[in-house]
Amino acid sequence: MKQFESIDVGLLKKYSGQGPRYTSYPTTPVFSSSFGPKEYNDEIVATNSNESNADLSLYFHFPYCDTLCYFCGCTMLVTHDHNNIVNYNKFLKREIELVAPLISPNRKVSQLHWGGGTPSYQEPDEIRNIGSFIKDHFRFDTDIEASVEIDPRGLTHEHMKALRESGFNRVSMGVQDFNEKVQEAVNRIQPESITRDAVNWSRDLGFSSVNLDLIYGLPYQTLKTFEETVDKVIDISPDRIAVFNYAHVPWLKPHQKVIKTETLPTVEEKLEIFKMTIEKLVDAGYWNIGMDHFAKATDEMTIAQKNKTMYRNFQGYSTKAGCDLYGFGMSAIGHFQNTYHQNIKTVNEYCKTIGAGNFATTVGYRMTADGDGDETQH
Ligand code: SF4
Repeated sequence: MKQFESIDVGLLKKYSGQGPRYTSYPTTPVFSSSFGPKEYNDEIVATNSNESNADLSLYFHFPYCDTLCYFCGCTMLVTHDHNNIVNYNKFLKREIELVAPLISPNRKVSQLHWGGGTPSYQEPDEIRNIGSFIKDHFRFDTDIEASVEIDPRGLTHEHMKALRESGFNRVSMGVQDFNEKVQEAVNRIQPESITRDAVNWSRDLGFSSVNLDLIYGLPYQTLKTFEETVDKVIDISPDRIAVFNYAHVPWLKPHQKVIKTETLPTVEEKLEIFKMTIEKLVDAGYWNIGMDHFAKATDEMTIAQKNKTMYRNFQGYSTKAGCDLYGFGMSAIGHFQNTYHQNIKTVNEYCKTIGAGNFATTVGYRMTADGDGDETQH
């Protein structure tokens, strides 16, 4: 089946203005502080009666990174002191201990995701430790979709082994761009060889799906240089590829000020880069499963998209619909059938609150039947 008749750059340009990024509806800026720890507790209790048997999706946020990529839009912290990671994990475990006893034993975890930050910045034994703690506190489905974000920089085979032993079967890693000038400009030096190592280790260890992330719109990118990156990615042949548009929002992410606007490709160049990328990936047999995500035609996500059983949540696209999402860690977002809830966004406050034995919910949103939230219900 043909995916696109043609890509109309003029039409893309016409609608190329900035808009909110929808990873939820409604979006996080309208979450309300009137939804706090008590409301979160009440929602957990209300959705975990004896009859509750909907599957669970668990998200864990690991905020720490080794270095700052200047394009980064994530909630992250740079540290070179591993005590910070050990300490953070202590509170993550405490949060698990607060939540897990409230969950109906009928419910199994069919989706698990570690994001960040850089989950693979933990030492292999730290990964094993928190990984087994999570497994001990929840019931994992044998068919679980368990994915983890890794960074090939600093990664070893032992890290990948520890992740596999912790139950992960999918891995996602950032590449962004293989061009050295671009990598220098964004402070992310990542030779192609280490990305290839990470992919090979994933395959050898039996991870069933490998995803690579690319970003277009970074400084010094041209159609030609990005084409070379796309060719290399196609040669590596990951199961899935995400091609994100760089959001230059220095008023929200002040570190992005380091990136000089004049080094960024123009809107026209960006659109040509995106058009070329879509055409190359489609020619190479990838299927555009939605927005900027691509998967091989045989990938279960592509099959789910064709069967209209694909679903999107905060972690991206999924084949598992209907789960309640529990978020753990600073800034983590949860989503039950009718509510959204987000944890405190600063690490010290998060640890302090959890350490005092309280949920760290700081904002949330309750939806009505037509999806239009009504804060007066709280
Ligand atoms: S590794 Fe990821 S989370 Fe960390 S700074 Fe780079 S882009 Fe951000």
